[in-house]
Amino acid sequence: MRKITIIGAGQAGLQLGFGLLSKGYHVTLVSNRSAEEIARGRVMSSQSMYDMAVGYERDLGLAWWDDSCPPITGVHMRAGNSEGQTLIDWRSPMAAPGQSVDQRIKMPAWMREFERRGGQLMIEEADLAALERYAEASDLVLVASGKGEIGQLFERDAERSTFDRPMRTISLTYVHGMKPRSDYSALNISINPGIGEYVNFPALTLSGACDIINLECIPGGPMDRWNEVSTPAEHLELAVELIHRFFPWEAPRCGELRLTDDLGTLVGRIPPTVRKPIGALPSGRKVLGMADVLVLNDPITGQGSNNASKCTMLYLDAILAHGERTFDAAWMQQTFERYWDYAQWVARFTNTHLLPPPPQLLKVFGACGCNPELAAKVANAFDDPRSLAPWYYDEAEADRLLETFAQPA
Ligand SMILES: Cc1cc2nc3c(=O)[nH]c(=O)nc-3n(C[C@H](O)[C@H](O)[C@H](O)COP(=O)(O)OP(=O)(O)OC[C@H]3O[C@@H](n4cnc5c(N)ncnc54)[C@H](O)[C@@H]3O)c2cc1C
Repeated sequence: MRKITIIGAGQAGLQLGFGLLSKGYHVTLVSNRSAEEIARGRVMSSQSMYDMAVGYERDLGLAWWDDSCPPITGVHMRAGNSEGQTLIDWRSPMAAPGQSVDQRIKMPAWMREFERRGGQLMIEEADLAALERYAEASDLVLVASGKGEIGQLFERDAERSTFDRPMRTISLTYVHGMKPRSDYSALNISINPGIGEYVNFPALTLSGACDIINLECIPGGPMDRWNEVSTPAEHLELAVELIHRFFPWEAPRCGELRLTDDLGTLVGRIPPTVRKPIGALPSGRKVLGMADVLVLNDPITGQGSNNASKCTMLYLDAILAHGERTFDAAWMQQTFERYWDYAQWVARFTNTHLLPPPPQLLKVFGACGCNPELAAKVANAFDDPRSLAPWYYDEAEADRLLETFAQPA
């Protein structure tokens, strides 16, 4: 039986672990936190996932929250200024709903299930010495440690990385009491150009259905005030104040907010980074990175957990197809390149939203307001950002696309 070790029990590590277990592999999963520690800890993400990514969970018998997690049914994008003047406003249902299950619920439940299905779970902070140990004892070691420090083992790919610093200060606030939208639940995106973004959607957390407030604050700008906050109550107060000041069209939904729990807040900065896929250990042995370790995006478009799910399934196929052969550097590079074929479009979509919108996007978003078919195309791209190329990134292509939509039927 082939032995595979995976470092990190997040979306990628666990999902791949289950996929391999289902095919008879001997899988060891190394987590620096126990299930109980994760369940009792701070929120880590807003983890909105869309149909394709949740579909892969369903295939593995792991989508346990389809009935209890409130659905994200559509996308609503607005841009406006602090006076409430609207510049962009379009909305569309998505072809299939998305969902956001608090990782404090999902990961502990999956960790227990992983052991129940015969996987070996080790609670340990994996350092280089541990990687050497696991590499010696396994046919393959995968590093799925997310933003963990051990990911520094993988060299930054300067050519594929668009930015060299965080482009937003990010704040998460999990709340109860948000007034529901009057039409349908949505990935609700508000943009105040040059200042930041407010993204909100429903989710399932430890205390039941909730809403997540994601504030994406341009560093040094008027929303970047999170160093003023020292308690959960102050965090909530600032989130509400920023919504009132910079996204006043959303303020009426935020009159009676309360935190889901004192650990339902998070502040951080993420440098969007692409890394080279192979990590060389001091002994010369090689390990392969995956998901956030290799392609880390700002959460502005909510793609990281989706990426992790999709990366997992590509890696699973590649491992199975390789049979009994050695997992050498050529196989590792080729496996990552298959993932990059997909993930580059996610990085491009996400990075585009971190910069002032180019002319073609203003045209596309403007046209979405009066063309439901085009709006649906953009809404569904959150499930598969490949569908936006080339017109999202090229003015002539966008003009061509918009012309086809302008033709009388
Ligand atoms: C504020 C914020 C909002 C987000 N919102 C969304 C969203 O709406 N939609 C979306 O799709 N994505 C979102 N993301 C991104 C998403 O959460 C990540 O991309 C996803 O969790 C990545 O999965 P992963 O398995 O690669 O890493 P992770 O989920 O980070 O898992 C890595 C695991 O490895 C463990 N670990 C780290 N180092 C070690 C070590 N040395 N030894 C052992 N274990 C280790 C960690 O504790 C962790 O459990 C968001 C992220 C942030 C920060």
